[in-house]
Amino acid sequence: MLPFARITIIGLGLIGSSIARAVQATMPTVRLTGHDADPQVRARARELGFCDDVTDTAGASVVDADFVILCVPVGAMAAVGAEIADDLPAEAIVSDVGSSKESVLVALRSALRDGAVIIPAHPVAGTENSGPDAGFATLFNGRWCIVTPPEGSDPTAAERVAEFWRRIGANVEMMDPKHHDLVLAVTSHLPHLIAYTIVGTASDMEEVTQSEVIKYSAGGFRDFTRIAASDPTMWRDVFLNNKDAVLEMLQRFTEDLTALQRAIRWGDGDALFDLFTRTRAVRRSIIEQGQDDAAPDFGRSH
Ligand code: NAP
Repeated sequence: MLPFARITIIGLGLIGSSIARAVQATMPTVRLTGHDADPQVRARARELGFCDDVTDTAGASVVDADFVILCVPVGAMAAVGAEIADDLPAEAIVSDVGSSKESVLVALRSALRDGAVIIPAHPVAGTENSGPDAGFATLFNGRWCIVTPPEGSDPTAAERVAEFWRRIGANVEMMDPKHHDLVLAVTSHLPHLIAYTIVGTASDMEEVTQSEVIKYSAGGFRDFTRIAASDPTMWRDVFLNNKDAVLEMLQRFTEDLTALQRAIRWGDGDALFDLFTRTRAVRRSIIEQGQDDAAPDFGRSH
């Protein structure tokens, strides 16, 4: 049996439209309703046809839903929660795809009515592109989705959410929201911060011209620019909402960077070689576990 019959997706960008396309492909009998705050996105979603219906208000989109997924930036979760609170059926499960989990849970708990069933989740899959045209049905295939049921929540509700993600291709892991935020701070948020910094530094340099930066980017820089091209609103919200975990990881990173700086200054080649050997093994494990392409140059076609 399908975990849900009437699903509403609010926020029809990369993630929301990918979920809709994946539901159409894997659970065609599900009735899909969508809403987005942006009238142009709503118009485009109607043209692309990945929902059965696109409503002009958030409230109208949830009236008969049994599952509501909020796919908006994490800073907008509270506002959307408040918009749907009065129209949400009592038995509906509310979830989200936000990249930080503790803050979203707090936001939704205060915005929704007491007793609302909230099971947050985070699909660890994405691209640097945004908007309804960027989505695709296979985005979640073989990727992890972390479901973070709040303490004391109904295990059946969490299992239905987990089953939904499995149906659209993801592997599911249940995790405590706080632990999720720490893990993602190091695997996702810190790498984005580093990429934003490197690309920002290169674009501010006076001795090296912009055209040189672009011309010689294949030396490594361009791989950072892909991450640093990610949506500014989404990432601003991630850093403001996962502040504590990001600052903790940044502190550790700064200490490790200082140790590397010292190794370079004192000519400690062994320390550099040992670290680079360890990091190479991490890359191998990622490929072995099917989380990236083993083709040379990150699978770029030449
Ligand atoms: P996106 O492509 O920019 O889509 C977000 C959509 O939500 C936009 O169309 C936006 O409209 C709309 N929106 C913003 N505020 C709204 C509101 N109050 N009510 C209704 N719609 C609203 O972003 P995305 O990449 O899909 O990210 C969505 C969520 O997924 C974020 O919470 C992010 O943390 C999470 N996530 C992203 C990735 C990734 O790689 N991108 C991966 C995993 C999880 P506007 O056009 O007006 O902004």
